[in-house]
Amino acid sequence: MKRFIPPLLSALQDNPHHRRLAVALGALLLASGVTAYSIAPLSPDVANLPVRQLIENIATIDTSAQRDSELVAPMVLYRSEITRPSDSLNTLLRRLGVSDIAAASFLSRDTASRTLLAGTPGKFVSIEADDKQQLQRLTARWPSEDGAQFSRLVVERGSKGYTSRVEMGQLERSVQLTSATVRTSLNAAAKEAKLPKPIAAQLAGVLARVPDFRVDLSAGDSFGVVYETLEVDGEVLRTGKLLGAEFVKNGKQHQVMWFQEPGQKGGFYTLNGQSIDREAMSLPLDAPKVSSGYGMRIHPVYGQAKAHEGTDFASPSGTPIRSAAQGVVTFAGWKQGYGKFVLVKHRDQKATAYAHLSQIQVRKGQRVAMGDLLGAVGQTGTATGPNLHFEYLVKGRPQDPQEISRQSAEKSITLTTRRDFERVAQTMRRQLDAASLVAQASAD
Ligand SMILES: [Zn+2]
Repeated sequence: MKRFIPPLLSALQDNPHHRRLAVALGALLLASGVTAYSIAPLSPDVANLPVRQLIENIATIDTSAQRDSELVAPMVLYRSEITRPSDSLNTLLRRLGVSDIAAASFLSRDTASRTLLAGTPGKFVSIEADDKQQLQRLTARWPSEDGAQFSRLVVERGSKGYTSRVEMGQLERSVQLTSATVRTSLNAAAKEAKLPKPIAAQLAGVLARVPDFRVDLSAGDSFGVVYETLEVDGEVLRTGKLLGAEFVKNGKQHQVMWFQEPGQKGGFYTLNGQSIDREAMSLPLDAPKVSSGYGMRIHPVYGQAKAHEGTDFASPSGTPIRSAAQGVVTFAGWKQGYGKFVLVKHRDQKATAYAHLSQIQVRKGQRVAMGDLLGAVGQTGTATGPNLHFEYLVKGRPQDPQEISRQSAEKSITLTTRRDFERVAQTMRRQLDAASLVAQASAD
């Protein structure tokens, strides 16, 4: 019974097209053979059956059909590229592995297709081509000017040649989470974590503004980010906003998130609702009580009318005085009638002055954040009682300090939006927790 098999196998092996088929058959024969041997001792009649079936099986395999279908099965080449500023149609098609005169000619003539290289480079292009490098289908996607929508150019080869169309649609927002441990610097870690450049830049900007956190991250510190991407067909077309960030330094966690109140500009806040905006200002006392406002008045000590260039806050001696904004201390010491005096310079040629202090807790040249302790309320210099004389200067000119309350009221979370803020903050805490797990998983 076995003598039928060797010639058949050798015949198959002679033809290189069928080598794979032969191997498969060999395995089949071996399996049948084992079965045959195990059955054979029991019944010689049964033992004949598998072999006969095997021969019939081989006869029914239409090897010519299989070979043809193998050759005819369309080979499709998929490739993607991003358009570059220097691209011509030729360089782009070459990078995409397309060598097709008809396609190149259509793409250069067709109005819709010309959008491919018009406007902003960086369009996401994908193609399908056959084994002759002929273009079957080209799809290009790019975000619209406003960034909320996308355009999609589709070029297809049909029986009558190429056709094109441009479709528009809404980009899908998606939230990305990631985190990393710093080995050398934040920038290096952001690169390793494959953070998109705009997100890495926003992250560095946020880090520089986190209250009570004015040092850079160093080895062993970590960060987590939550950011949005705008996608179409599963491809990221645009990086959106940084939505939240977490910095862990010496085991201490600092979390911030993006929040936009209705009708407001939006900005980053700690999850407790404190704005980290560089321009954010607050009054220097926790519970300010104005005893003498800004404007003309009779000076309580000298008696004559003169402009009061600040605001006096009546407050018990020892009450903490906090920096009204981020800045650098440019004076800390005794200054005539001002007594113990602190001057802080801020951005945009703004400065704040604090007088009559009982004690000073900063030194000249020190960087301070909004809310940092400068000293305590006292009665030093020319003062009739414990009070903080506070001045707000823009380009050296005194301004009404009440302007600060107005500004800070705009920048702190109002009671009406507090619930919305809490809801967003709760989600953000969960997302930042998840982001830190992403790093653990990838580290393992
Ligand atoms: Zn005063």
